Amino acid sequence: MTESRVPDSGSLDCSVLVVGAGFAGLYAVYAARRLGHSVIGIEAGEDVGGTWYWNRYPGARCDVESVDYSYSFDADLQRDWRWTERYATQPEILAYARHVADRFKLRRHYLFKERVTAASFDEADAAWAVQLAGGGSLRARWIIFAAGSLSTPIRPDIPGIDNFTGETLFTARWPNEPVCFEGKRVGVIGTGASGIQCTPIIARSAAKLTVFQRSPNYSVPAFNRTIPDDEWAQIQASYPERRQKSFASGGGSPHEIDPREVWDIDGAEREALLENGWKKGGVLFAKIFQKQTTDESVNALARDFAEKKIRAIVCDKSLADDLIPTDHPIGTKRICTDSGYFETFNRDNVELVNLRRDPIKAITESGVQTESGTHDLDMLIFATGFDAMTGTITRVDFRGPGGQSMAEAWADGPRTMLGMMVPGFPNLFNITGPGSPSVLANMILGAEQHVDFALGLVTRAEQGGHTMVEPRRDAADAWTAHVDAIARGTLFTQAKSWYMGANVEGKKRTFMPYIGGFGAYIRECEAIRSAGYKGFVFSS
Ligand code: FAD
Ligand code: NAP
Repeated sequence: MTESRVPDSGSLDCSVLVVGAGFAGLYAVYAARRLGHSVIGIEAGEDVGGTWYWNRYPGARCDVESVDYSYSFDADLQRDWRWTERYATQPEILAYARHVADRFKLRRHYLFKERVTAASFDEADAAWAVQLAGGGSLRARWIIFAAGSLSTPIRPDIPGIDNFTGETLFTARWPNEPVCFEGKRVGVIGTGASGIQCTPIIARSAAKLTVFQRSPNYSVPAFNRTIPDDEWAQIQASYPERRQKSFASGGGSPHEIDPREVWDIDGAEREALLENGWKKGGVLFAKIFQKQTTDESVNALARDFAEKKIRAIVCDKSLADDLIPTDHPIGTKRICTDSGYFETFNRDNVELVNLRRDPIKAITESGVQTESGTHDLDMLIFATGFDAMTGTITRVDFRGPGGQSMAEAWADGPRTMLGMMVPGFPNLFNITGPGSPSVLANMILGAEQHVDFALGLVTRAEQGGHTMVEPRRDAADAWTAHVDAIARGTLFTQAKSWYMGANVEGKKRTFMPYIGGFGAYIRECEAIRSAGYKGFVFSS
């Protein structure tokens, strides 16, 4: 390890402050320390892992294959860690995060069970003065905000939510202790990826499971399996090429879309490609054909195919009608990756309540009251999602030199340079923020790329004798307009998704992630870097 650089102002506690100990934060601590910075990390949880620390609900798994959804920065780590399954479980992913923390001795930098609540920028000192929830404060020159795109769960505004006297659980704040469903009447509110992953497992032991569905979602089976040794050896041999493909790809995995125009492929072959795509499993079903998420007629091919598959699984026709989405093109909300979700509704102990027909009136002491009646429950589980992409950073009272908060600066939607920096907030790097590929790509590789770019800016500033870097307002406006224009050319803006901020009352509706592709984004970043970080201003 390089000797830590002494902060260049006596009033600084560290050079780099990293917020968050998920995959992005852990890599940021590692990479900043490697460059010789003194680093402090702050994490609200008791330990590392981020998403995989908090979301311990039964059935939680990644939906990007583990061999890809893992760090690429260290070849020895990549060789030594043996993933057991195609899509690892939450405990295995958490174990990996812990292994990384141990291996690279990252925990020693962190204050756990602590939260950053506010930070104001002191221009005289070129430092962020940071307030912590525990009452402490510290000063840092640079902040790498790696606090997650999906880390602020939503507590839905349902009347009587506190009245329920049974057990209440949130998938995104699942307890560490085992949860028993045996013999219980369990309700799950929410049928996004989290609800869809936990439903089949709860149904196996609950006396009765009631799934409260407001909007149905497309879900494709994971076809999960263990990875045998010979396949593992092949993966190891091809890792460099695999990673190269991922960094050049649309979504951060080696998957390639058939290059042909869909209408140049004959009907039988199109069907075979869909079948093959379905059998590959999961989110990649959104990427079978060119133009699948930009042209409604192409999208309809995948949509009709998925509908047929769901109808073939669900025995009751009217139940299948309720489970098939009709309100968005397939893939414009993240396709869920399930293990027996639709099959679960063939069980006698499972009931679907279609909240579009029978809305929730209130939560009562004994369960959920809908317009048509009462559902008595022993346990109520909320799988109700996150204030995604902007919710975590706007909850910290960041104040730049102009005194404006991030929430005020983004009142009309997030405005960023490359999804990482915001004009008026110098020296603050928002990792995988809105305006970057973020949630549309493999987020571990995305975090590596973002942290490297952020530290590149820091190095460039320091080498030039500067203490501050900030994006130019016109450059950020141009980038934000570019992000918006690309999204408008797709079908994604038709869906009431969390990508659009549509799941949060009063949130500005705008498509937040950069949808031009992970590889294209990296090339943009490289071009900006090669042009001397065009669009960024370095100062002292
Ligand atoms: P996080 O893992 O969210 O970590 C952020 C950390 O910051 C948290 O631990 C939080 O406690 C902490 N924090 C937040 N605010 C503060 C504060 N003010 N002060 C101190 N600490 C703070 N992505 C994929 O690419 N593939 C997948 O398969 C996939 N599966 C997912 C499954 C689930 C259930 C969820 C919810 C998300 C999934 N994602 C997936 C997205 C996932 O969030 C990212 O892949 C990745 O784990 C994010 O890492 P991160 O370090 O950026 O953020
Ligand atoms: P989500 O996709 O936002 O789903 C939330 C669900 O709760 C939706 O069905 C929503 O219905 C419902 N809901 C919210 N408020 C409600 C209310 N007041 N009454 C009734 N229903 C309500 O959240 P998520 O499932 O946690 O997933 C979020 C993202 O995290 C995913 O898209 C994915 O990126 C990631 N994730 C990945 C995996 C994985 O497979 N690896 C697993 C979990 C999460 P409406 O749609 O009608 O709003």
